Order: sequence, then C-alpha cells, then structure tokens
Amino acid sequence: MLCEMCGAESAVLEPRKVSGSILQLCNSCGSLGSETSYRETIGHRAYVAQTLEKRQQKNRYEEIEPDEFVLVKDYGSIVRKAREKAGLNHSSLASKISEKKSILTSVEAGKMTPNEKLIKKLENYLKIKLTEKVESTSAPVSSSSGEALTMGDLLKQAMDKN
Ligand SMILES: [Zn+2]
Repeated sequence: MLCEMCGAESAVLEPRKVSGSILQLCNSCGSLGSETSYRETIGHRAYVAQTLEKRQQKNRYEEIEPDEFVLVKDYGSIVRKAREKAGLNHSSLASKISEKKSILTSVEAGKMTPNEKLIKKLENYLKIKLTEKVESTSAPVSSSSGEALTMGDLLKQAMDKN
C-alpha cells in the first residue's frame, strides 16, 4: 500500500484527517493529520450502507416468528380414545378437569374447538398431544402493503439519524 501523502510503500497505513480529507498515511506522515472517527475512516457512503445493512439484518431477525402450534385435525377422536382408554365417561372426565360435560362431548365430536386452556387440561390429564408445530413459512415481505419502506426511505432515515 502506498502512503497518500508521501507515496512511500508501507505495510501499515492509518487513516488520518488532513485538511478535511481522509488520507491513508504511513507511520512517518501519520502525525500530520488528526485522528479520524470510524465513520470518517470508512467514508460516509459506506457508513450509511453499513447502517442500512445492519438495520435490514435486524428487521430480518425480527421477522422470524415463534413456532406456531395448531390443533390437530382429529383432536376429537384423540380425546375420545384417550378418555375411553382411561376408563372415564364424559361426566367423570369433565369433573376431573373441571369442565362441562357438554363441552367435552362437543369437543370429542369435533363440533367445538377447545380453547388453549382446555387443550392444556386435556393434554395434561389424558397424556395426549392435541397440537402440532407449524413451521412458519418465510413469505417474502410484500412491497404492496403500503407500510414497507423503500430504499430511499431507509437512506433518508439513516441520514437524518446520523
Ligand atoms: Zn508517508
């Protein structure tokens, strides 16, 4: 690498501010300039680009949703089979988990979707699994949502902020 001040070949150059410009200087010229900030060192454009990249990485990270759990399709028959296996009728199971018999009947018939609380009670009491994990699909962010920021907006934000 060549020193931008004296033109000498130097293995190590350090960025120094010399009359408003950032120059890569060798050790002997280094004392001519003043210290530069990181932002000055890499240049404003590069700094903004880095800021944007970081922001996008952050956004990407935030887009990752926690795994979703959904009720399995045949939850009714799973409950019924587990209840029968446990030797319980609707009434006794209902009283064991403090629910109405009619609710259990409807759930087993698939006519009613148990809420989260009931799902937990049934799962815990009958030692069954009524939910399954859904892999969240990474759908591309829609640009037609109206809320999506354009590159221009991001640039403006980055410039304003700094
Ligand atoms: Zn030099």
